[in-house]
Amino acid sequence: MALALRLGATGDGALGENIRLFPGRPVATARPRQRILLSPPSLVGGELASLDHTLASGWIAPAGPVPEAFEAAIRAATGTEQGLAVSSGTAALHLGYRVLGVERGDEVWTSTLTFVATIAPAVQMGARPRFLDVTADSWTLDPDMLETRLRQAANKGKLPRAVVPVDLYGQSCDLDAIVTLCGRWGVPVLCDSAEALGAEYHGRPVGKGAALAAFSFNGNKIITAGGGGALVSDDAGLIARARHLATQAKETAPHYQHETTGYSYGLSSVLAAVGLAQIGALQDRVAARRAVFARYALRLSDLPGIAFMPEPGWGRSSRWLSVLTVDPARFGTSREQVRQALDAAGVESRPVWKPLHLQPAFRGAAFHGNGVSGHLFDRGLCLPSGAMLPEEQDRVIDTIRACYRG
Ligand SMILES: *Cc1c(COP(=O)(O)O)cnc(C)c1O
Repeated sequence: MALALRLGATGDGALGENIRLFPGRPVATARPRQRILLSPPSLVGGELASLDHTLASGWIAPAGPVPEAFEAAIRAATGTEQGLAVSSGTAALHLGYRVLGVERGDEVWTSTLTFVATIAPAVQMGARPRFLDVTADSWTLDPDMLETRLRQAANKGKLPRAVVPVDLYGQSCDLDAIVTLCGRWGVPVLCDSAEALGAEYHGRPVGKGAALAAFSFNGNKIITAGGGGALVSDDAGLIARARHLATQAKETAPHYQHETTGYSYGLSSVLAAVGLAQIGALQDRVAARRAVFARYALRLSDLPGIAFMPEPGWGRSSRWLSVLTVDPARFGTSREQVRQALDAAGVESRPVWKPLHLQPAFRGAAFHGNGVSGHLFDRGLCLPSGAMLPEEQDRVIDTIRACYRG
C-alpha cells in the first residue's frame, strides 16, 4: 500500500500535494482549491536521499554520524561553538533550565508575548514565572523595564535564576542590551530563539551571545526535522551537562550508574536526516519568507489602519511569520472580523500570541506591563507565511483589502 504524506508547498509551489514515499498510484495532477495554511512544513528536495542514506547505514538511533552532522550544521548556522540536537524545542528549553540550576521556588523571568513552551518547563520544575512586557518597536522583551525590575529584585535579594528573552516571529530581541544588564547582576540568559533560526542580530546569526539559546524544528518552523530542537552555547560545560541529562544521565561505568535523573530527549537519526537536508536550504527559506512579507507590505501598507511588525535597526528578521496589526477605528473592520473573512476564504490566520500573563494557566503570576502586549493581542494577526503560489498570496491580500470600510 502506498504511504502518502500530506505536505505543504515545496519550492516549486506544489501546495498540499500528496507526496509518496513508496511507489504507488501516480500523484493526481488536478487538485482542488486548498486551504492556505499559516506555516505548513515543506520539503526542500534532499530529504528522501538523506533518509535513504541514513536507513541504509543502519545508524537510526538517536546517536551516531547523522545527529552529529546535524549538530555541526546547527553550529555553523548559529555561529556557536557547541550544539546539542534534541527531540523538541521544549526539550531544549527544559534542559536549559536544568543546566542553569533552576529549582523549585526560583523565579524565572520572560517576555509575556510568547508561546507557552517558553516558560512551561520552568513552571513544571516548580519555578515561579514573572512576565515582563515588550517594546512597541520590536515586540520583544523591554530592556528598560528589565533593568528597573532587576535593580529592585537585587535590592530585595531576590534575583531571578534566569532571564529568558524571546526572538519573536523571526525577530531578534535586543540581546546585547539584555545580556549586559543581566551580567551586571550575574543572572544567566537563556534565549528562546525557537522562531528565529536564520535571522541576524547586529550582523551575526541569532543564537549567539546568550549563555544558551534554544531552537525548534517543529513542523511549523522555518525548517523542520518533522519534530526536533536544539540547544546551543559557546560554553562547552553547559552543553556537555545538557547532553548527559538528555540521555538519561548515565555515568561512565559498565553497569547503569546514575548520580541524578535525566530525560530521553535524544533526536532520532531518522529525524536528524530530515533536518540535515532542510538546514542546507535555511538561507533560501529566509529569503522566501522575507519575500512573502515584502509582498504583503507592498500590497497592504496603503490601507488606513494597517501596519506591519517593525524590524528594528539591530536585526534582520527571518520573517518566520508575517504579522500585521489592524486599527479598527481607521480600517473600519476589526482584527477578528478580518480573521473570520480570511477563514471563510479558506485562509488560516491567527491572532498574535495571547500574552502569558492573561493565560489562566499562570493566574496570579507576577506581571509588569506597559500596555504593548495586550494591544498587540487585540490587534495583531499572523498571516500565511510559508511557500505559496503568487495567486494564493493574492487571495489573502484581496480578502484583507475587501475588509476595508473607508
Ligand atoms: C515552537 C516554539 C517552541 C517549542 O518548540 P517545539 O519544538 O514545538 O517544542 C518554544 N518557544 C517558542 C517561542 C516557539 O515558537
